[in-house]
Amino acid sequence: MKGRDILGRLFGTSGVRGVVNEELTAEIAVRLGKAIGTYFEDTVVIASDTRDSGGMIKAAVAAGLMSVGARVIDIGVAPTPALQYYVGSHDGMSGGVMITASHNPPEFNGIKCIGPTGQELIREGEEKIESLFEEDIECKEWDAVGTFEYGSNAIERYIDAILRRVDAAAIRAAKFTVVLDCANGAACVSTPLLLSRLGVRAITLNANPQGDFPGHPSEPTEENLRDLIALVRSTGADLGIAHDGDADRVIFISDTAEYVSGEKSLALVAKYVLSNRPGLVVTPVSSSSMVEEVVKEMESTIMYTAIGSPIVARAMFENKAVFGGEENGGLIFPKHQLCRDGAMSVAAMLECMVKGGKLSEQLETLPKYYTEKRKIDCPNSLKSSLLRHLKEVNKTVRADMTDGLKLLYDDGWVLARPSGTEPKFRIYSESKDKDMALHRANETEIKAIEFVERVLTPANKDDA
Ligand code: MG
Repeated sequence: MKGRDILGRLFGTSGVRGVVNEELTAEIAVRLGKAIGTYFEDTVVIASDTRDSGGMIKAAVAAGLMSVGARVIDIGVAPTPALQYYVGSHDGMSGGVMITASHNPPEFNGIKCIGPTGQELIREGEEKIESLFEEDIECKEWDAVGTFEYGSNAIERYIDAILRRVDAAAIRAAKFTVVLDCANGAACVSTPLLLSRLGVRAITLNANPQGDFPGHPSEPTEENLRDLIALVRSTGADLGIAHDGDADRVIFISDTAEYVSGEKSLALVAKYVLSNRPGLVVTPVSSSSMVEEVVKEMESTIMYTAIGSPIVARAMFENKAVFGGEENGGLIFPKHQLCRDGAMSVAAMLECMVKGGKLSEQLETLPKYYTEKRKIDCPNSLKSSLLRHLKEVNKTVRADMTDGLKLLYDDGWVLARPSGTEPKFRIYSESKDKDMALHRANETEIKAIEFVERVLTPANKDDA
């Protein structure tokens, strides 16, 4: 099928994604629904974000699920973590399916599977569904097809669960004013409700669900959040909040209208969580050392994993972590649930402000690091030899191979890793010294480009 990525996988790093009716069609969705229904066997909860194609894809997946006998519960438009909470907190749920393409443009949609505990399905589960997708799965007899029903109160129960995890009375007493940007996505149905339950005055932007995302593209980059930043500045709000399309992530704007990068919020919230309960924090190897430094200051430990939120969540579960997350604004609070959760992150940040003061002042306390990023062209067939080459030419440097090649220096690190979805190689360089971060990024980029060009030159190909 067209939706397969370059590795021949059906599922990419975050489910199946593609342009609707080009790569991701109703026929594929039905077929995938049959595979998912066969894998989960029994009751499957389904939800979608606000994309215009959500109804079509959801109906097709649901039809596929029921055709092989699965019972379907539709909870409507919901953030991914609200679906995850529904699956994890109700007895007898076999799994969930979220129809979303997260932060991708509106012409995309996607299908993501959730396991019975509410965690994202890990690779082994996806592989089983992939192989079922290849099979010609027989439909059930007419009297054994699955049933369809609507699930009620999914959002309210999800918000109630978040309120139980924070000091809601203290947040109410603080009488905060925030500006909230829902990006016309799934957050429209949940975060305004959360804020009202927390007694927070919310000035909202793009808070009407609209599947063509007229407000701005749904990745919460600084450029896409210009209106939010301006509104925080002009209203003197305590905080700006922006979600991605399916509201599993959040980006904050400080009271001084500063865009707070995901790694800074990860570090700040880690510090706050650890101040109540020291323990293990899990994050991918791409996260800033700022997080590690803060964790160590709090007499706690950090564990690095390969990149991907299901991998982080799994490591958190296995090692009983107290907190974890990614540098893109995806924070995981294991006491609440083991997945990225945008609304939970909002509640935690508000509590962090109640206890620790203004966000701008808390940001001042974070250690300072500089980052440089590069992306070079590299054919898929050369990715592993380029990785070996970079390891070889840096063999005197301490290296970590958890995901790609991470070269560890006293003042920073360089991470070189092949892109999982395109013929590119990514280089990240971080250091406490700005010039050093730049120097190492340039040096690694030049070595990588030289290698790719040398191997690709036909005259040298035989020697390579
Ligand atoms: Mg997302």
